[in-house]
Amino acid sequence: MALRGQRIAVIGGGIGGMAFMNSALYAGLENMHLYEAAPEFTEVGAGVNITRNANRVLDAFGLKDDMLWSSSRNPPSYMEYRHYRTEEYLGQIEEFGEPRSRQIHRAHLVEVLKKKVPDSKISKGKRLVAVERDETDDCYTIKFQDGTESKADIVVGCDGIKSRVRQHLGFTDEPIYSGQMVYRGYVAYDDLTQETAELLRKTVNFRGPQRHVLTLPIGNEESKTDRVGIIGFMTEPLEGWTSESWLAKAPVDDLYEHVKDWSPAVQEIIHGLRKGAEDGKILKQTLYVRDPTPKWYSAQSWQKSGIILIGDSVHSTLPHQGQGACMAIESGFALAQVLSNWQSADTEGAFQFFQDLRKPRTDKITKTSYETGKLASADIPEELWSQTFSPGAVAERMRWVMEYDLLAELSNRLSAVDASDESKTSTASSIPQVARVV
Ligand SMILES: Cc1cc2nc3c(=O)[nH]c(=O)nc-3n(C[C@H](O)[C@H](O)[C@H](O)COP(=O)(O)OP(=O)(O)OC[C@H]3O[C@@H](n4cnc5c(N)ncnc54)[C@H](O)[C@@H]3O)c2cc1C
Repeated sequence: MALRGQRIAVIGGGIGGMAFMNSALYAGLENMHLYEAAPEFTEVGAGVNITRNANRVLDAFGLKDDMLWSSSRNPPSYMEYRHYRTEEYLGQIEEFGEPRSRQIHRAHLVEVLKKKVPDSKISKGKRLVAVERDETDDCYTIKFQDGTESKADIVVGCDGIKSRVRQHLGFTDEPIYSGQMVYRGYVAYDDLTQETAELLRKTVNFRGPQRHVLTLPIGNEESKTDRVGIIGFMTEPLEGWTSESWLAKAPVDDLYEHVKDWSPAVQEIIHGLRKGAEDGKILKQTLYVRDPTPKWYSAQSWQKSGIILIGDSVHSTLPHQGQGACMAIESGFALAQVLSNWQSADTEGAFQFFQDLRKPRTDKITKTSYETGKLASADIPEELWSQTFSPGAVAERMRWVMEYDLLAELSNRLSAVDASDESKTSTASSIPQVARVV
């Protein structure tokens, strides 16, 4: 018996959970259901940059037009670097080919991913509180805060960096503070001078000492979604953090204190943030990092049930290579394809295959994102900057990330399993078809 017919509970309707649902629907899986804690899909809002490696997957699964409707279109380069005070041009990283990066509001990204998922497959306001093993029926009882419960054979934990499902797998490690706080908000192009508005139609990194301000040209004029997404990475001690949550609001003045002697364009950004924030506040969050997770799943050999993690619950990363959401997209699409192609009732085999496919890449991205962060916010005395920073070198660090072709690797690996053991997968599956679409 294959795994296709198993009851799959997807916990968390963020980027990874929705990616999984799209891929599962594409593969013709019917027995899955997504549970989201929030009563509505109102993503608190920041902008994200979705790079070529993930866009390639989204496009192959038929989401290209919806993405392009609400994302930027053909940005001129991947990233441009400017000196924080003088605004001097320090160089840029070119795009790595088609499809190009797309900058999009998180709410719009979730909307794109949600569009094809029927409402009947989603339950909102369902905060998972426990997963209990039912040995008699070889399945799980999943329990929610509202007192309801449900049965599932396979539990996919996509419930973010503070994952409850992860805790259930026995991990007790807490994420570690990275040393930086992040300020996030939006600026309307109309609130900028023409010269600055033109500059910020590109992704720009104002590189400062142990700090940097990243600007993303979110959306496009046609769908009236265009604005500048601001992400300010500021080195601050954690002691000053008084909120109980790791995501809070803070006065624009807090960001201003860090950048008050920065360039005129950055001052315009501060002015624009003040104008756009009715209460004078923007999002502020503590930036956490976690070491790679040794094992991503719980399953017994030749059982038809198990628990597996994807997205920030298992491979969260610092955002300095813009890959957290991209990796959640890659993992979500890949896992559903593995489950739909696995021909034996052996979740452990399928999960180990998935982990072997994904973990080397996500571990490496976690490590290199940390290193890239040190380059993005200059972490050495200013007089040494010109000798140590080269956009060309940063570009080389991004090349393998962006040039990766998930669907080709997945297809090749499944074919290899096929050749070695016909009972496990079937080549007459959705993967080669998907790969042909690419
Ligand atoms: C400053 C910053 C900038 C970033 N920029 C980028 C970028 O440019 N590009 C990029 O690729 N990534 C970026 N990221 C990373 C990206 O935002 C995350 O990696 C991505 O959102 C992870 O997706 P996910 O689905 O795993 O988790 P999430 O998107 O966090 O979704 C988790 C979902 O689970 C739900 N949930 C939580 N607990 C429960 C529960 N108990 N029961 C049910 N549901 C639950 C939540 O409500 C949520 O909907 C950035 C991150 C930061 C902090």
